[in-house]
Amino acid sequence: MSKVLDHYHYLHEIPELGFQEFKTSAYIADQLEKAGLKVTRNINQTTGIVAEIDSGAPGPVLALRADMDALGHIIDGVPCARHTCGHDGHSSVVLTAAQELLAEGAVKKGRLKILFQPAEELGAGALAMVEGGALDDVEMILGFHLRPLEECVVGQATPAVRYSACSTLEATIKGAPAHAARPHLGVNALDAAVQAVNAVNAIHLSPGLNWSVKATRFLCDAGVTNSVPDEARVVWDLRSQENAPMEALKEKVTQAIQHSVAALGATAQVVVLKEMPAAEIHDDATEVIRAAISEVLGPEGLLDARSTPGSEDFFYYPVKRPNVKAGFWGLGTNLVPGLHHPDMHFDLNALEIGVNIFKSCVKKVLG
Ligand SMILES: [Zn+2]
Ligand SMILES: [Zn+2]
Repeated sequence: MSKVLDHYHYLHEIPELGFQEFKTSAYIADQLEKAGLKVTRNINQTTGIVAEIDSGAPGPVLALRADMDALGHIIDGVPCARHTCGHDGHSSVVLTAAQELLAEGAVKKGRLKILFQPAEELGAGALAMVEGGALDDVEMILGFHLRPLEECVVGQATPAVRYSACSTLEATIKGAPAHAARPHLGVNALDAAVQAVNAVNAIHLSPGLNWSVKATRFLCDAGVTNSVPDEARVVWDLRSQENAPMEALKEKVTQAIQHSVAALGATAQVVVLKEMPAAEIHDDATEVIRAAISEVLGPEGLLDARSTPGSEDFFYYPVKRPNVKAGFWGLGTNLVPGLHHPDMHFDLNALEIGVNIFKSCVKKVLG
């Protein structure tokens, strides 16, 4: 009888924010050690964990990756952590697969590394694991995510989810204060910020590319309503299906902001608040996953690759270590109303399917 639901129920009740997954990672590491895996805790001084099953025989090094963090929501006015991206499900699935693979003696050649990373939602956990050396000897890494109902249902899975690149830019726009009765003596930062929003909205990349940019935060308050505000802050969310156009988009957005506010005599300092790369998925990894999904769910459960405007920090692994072949698949879970929704829920029966697909992947590479 699989322990995936026991693990899930335990982790679901102790949601913790990125880099604060203390109880979560302690539980996972204890469970792995109890099962007999070799465990290294506190990777790069974080809550990250690397566990290992060494066959003792020569062969490839395969890694499975799960993320552990919950999201910070404000629900009924109260800030709280909640697992609305399903990372508790991801950790339960990978933990259970590792325990069962060891118990079954399924790793017959090479080594299996199991990565539990912190802070996916902050876009920083995968980088911390890479910098901590977790990937240095790895040839292939596989990750997965629960998919929303409209993408696939329980009994279906997709072998490749092509996530988009995402950048969050913030501009601090400085004008000059003045009495509202004498606006000609100041520079209105609010006016400049409005110009910047409009200038960014007029940007075009090639229509053949998949991309978007939109302002998502606008802060300006001088504290009084009868003076010209001298500072405004605006945040933009940038998306691109491929990595290369994101650089051009960031450049165009920065120029549009700086030139448009300069026209009014204001200045803007633009910084990147958060960034995640687009998917870099290797065909060899996708083939392994495709075969595993077919084996577990039958050919009728095997969907095509999917593209999504969402982002995943998993892709820092192949971007920072281009020699590592990365695969990322999506599990049908009947998830509603949507990822990151405070009431997100899904069919827990899907977790056992996730365990079996990962186990099948490992057996294909290391069996
Ligand atoms: Zn998320
Ligand atoms: Zn997620």
